[in-house]
Amino acid sequence: MRFSRLLVPTTKETPNDATLASHIYLIRGGFIQSVGGSGLYNFLPLGKKVLDKVRAVVKEELDKVGCQEVALSFVTPASLWEESGRFEKYGKELLRFKDRKNNDFILGPTHEEMMVNMVRQTVKSYKQLPLNLYQINLKFRDEIRPRFGLMRGREFLMKDGYSFHASQEDMEREFNLMEETYKKIFTRLGLEFRVVAADSGAIGGSGSKEFMVLADSGEDTIVVCDNCDYGANIEAAIRQEKVCEAEAPEAVFSKFHTPDTKTIEALSTFFHVDPYYLVKTVAKKALYDEGKSETVLFALRGSDELQEVKACNAVGANDLIEVTEEELSEAGLVAGYMGPTTAPEGIKVVYDNNMKNASSMICGANEEDYHLIGNDFKGIDAAYADLVAVQENDLCSCCGEPLRYTKGIEAGHIFQLGTQYSKPLGANFLDENGKAQPMVMGTYGIGVSRLLAAIIEQNHDDKGCIWTKASAPFDLQILVSNIKDEAQLALGEKLYASMLEKGVDVLLDERKDRFGAKMKDYELLGVPYAVVIGKKLADGLVEFVTRDGMVKEEISIDAISPLLNEKF
Ligand code: ATP
Ligand code: MG
Repeated sequence: MRFSRLLVPTTKETPNDATLASHIYLIRGGFIQSVGGSGLYNFLPLGKKVLDKVRAVVKEELDKVGCQEVALSFVTPASLWEESGRFEKYGKELLRFKDRKNNDFILGPTHEEMMVNMVRQTVKSYKQLPLNLYQINLKFRDEIRPRFGLMRGREFLMKDGYSFHASQEDMEREFNLMEETYKKIFTRLGLEFRVVAADSGAIGGSGSKEFMVLADSGEDTIVVCDNCDYGANIEAAIRQEKVCEAEAPEAVFSKFHTPDTKTIEALSTFFHVDPYYLVKTVAKKALYDEGKSETVLFALRGSDELQEVKACNAVGANDLIEVTEEELSEAGLVAGYMGPTTAPEGIKVVYDNNMKNASSMICGANEEDYHLIGNDFKGIDAAYADLVAVQENDLCSCCGEPLRYTKGIEAGHIFQLGTQYSKPLGANFLDENGKAQPMVMGTYGIGVSRLLAAIIEQNHDDKGCIWTKASAPFDLQILVSNIKDEAQLALGEKLYASMLEKGVDVLLDERKDRFGAKMKDYELLGVPYAVVIGKKLADGLVEFVTRDGMVKEEISIDAISPLLNEKF
C-alpha cells in the first residue's frame, strides 16, 4: 500500500472523551471514528485491517480444533427470548423494538437462543453430537456507560461459540479444549494474559473462566498468586482459611451491655478483641423473579468483607440491594446490633464457611445497645456458603503464598452452561436407547473488537501504538524522507516492490510531507518495523527501526535486503 493513497486521517488532537491510551491512539491514528459519541464506531481501512487480522487468528485456531463457523441473524425475534425467559429478565442493555406488523424483536447482545434454535431444528440424534458452532458477528448492548472506545462499545464484534453434547463429561472435555485453544489465540496475538476462575452464578464450581489481558487500565480486579498459576476474578477468588494469632475472648454465653458500638471497629475497641472474633452481620435485600424480594442476613467474621456476588449466588437471587432503615425495622432488625442467632423468625440467614468452626464469638443481640458474648457456632445447623471477598496478602489456597491484586481486561470468557438453555427451548436429542435428552452445552466468547483496545493498552508508549506482529496493520513501513531526492525515492520503490513480491504486507510512505510529520505518523500507527531512507543514503546508509522501544540501527544499503529477507 502507498501512504499517499491510504485513507488514514491521523490527527494530533486527543478526543475530549478519551482517557485510555487505546481510545486516544485508535482515534488519533485514524483506525476508527466515533459515530455520534455514544459507543458506536466506524472502522476506517487500517482499523478494519487490524480487526480482520485478529479475527483471522481467532478463526484459524478454532477451525483447527473442529469448530464450525456460521452467521446468525443479528436481528432476533423476541419470541425466542421469551422461550428462555430472558426477554423479561435482561435489563435495559437489551435493545427491544417492533417491526411494522407490531412483532417484537431485539438486537442480539449474545446468541444462545438463536444458536439453540438453529441446532434444535437440525440435530436429532446423539450421532450428530458433539458440535461446536461459532460466529464472529456484531452484538449490541445498550451499555449504561459506553466508554473507553472499543473497550466498552454498544455495538461490538464478538466471537461467540456454543457447543452441544450428549453428556456432561463430553462438554467438560470441549471446555478444556476451548481453554487450550483460547490460550493459543492470545499467545499468537502476542498478549500477556491470565486465565482466571470467574463467577459462574448459580451453577458454581469451576464452570467459568475468563481470559484477562493484563493492563493497569483494566476494569476488572483479579486476584493472582505469583508463586503458582492461581488466578481468579475478585468475585470468584478463594483463599486459605485465615488463622488468628490474637487471643480468643473466652466467656460464658451471656448478654452484654455495649452502648454505642454499632461498627466492628467500635466493638473491637470496646472489648479489646481482634475483629476475627466478632460476627459481622450484613443485611441485604435480595431480588428474585416476578418482583419477589426478601431481607437476608449474611454472617461472617468481622475481619472479613462480604463479596456481594458470592452472597447473591448463595441465595439464588438476581441481585442484592441495600435495605433501608425502614425495611430493617419492619423486619424486626435493629441496625448496628444485628446478629445471626437472634434474627426474627422467617429471616433467611447465610453463614460464611469460615464460621463453621467459630467459637468464643461476639455478635449482635438484635437489641439496641446489646451484644451476645461467648457464642459457639460449632456444629450448628445452618446454611453456609463462601461469602468472603479475598484481600491482598490472604494466602493462596493452592500453594499458601500471599495473593495479590492486579488489573485485567476481560477479553474472553468460557462457560459451562449445562442444560440452562436446551431445556426451556426443548433442544433434545435421542440417546443410544432412543430416549429424548436435553443437549449439554458450553458457551465461549471472545471480544474481538475489544481485543484491539486490549492490545494497545498493553503495547503503547507516549508516541502511539506498538502493534504486536500478528495484529499489526502492516508488517513493514518504508519511509522516504525526501521524495524529491531521486536516489531516495528509487531505493524506496525498489525495496517496496521486492517486499510486495515476497508477500510482505508493506506500506510505502512516499508522501510529499516533511520527514518529521511522516515519522510522527509512523510512531502513532505503530507498525513493528520501518526502513527510513534519508540524507545518509549519500554515504550508503539507511536506518532500520524497531517500533517497540524505537530502536534505530544504521545499515549499509548492501545489507538492507539480506536483513529484510531474514526478518520476513
Ligand atoms: P463485561 O463484564 O466487560 O461487561 P461481559 O462479561 O458482560 O463483559 P460476555 O457476555 O462474557 O461479556 O461477552 C463475551 C466477551 O465480549 C467479553 O469477554 C468481552 O471481551 C466482550 N464484550 C462484552 N461486552 C462488551 C462491550 N460492551 N464492548 C466490547 N466488547 C465487549
Ligand atoms: Mg463475561
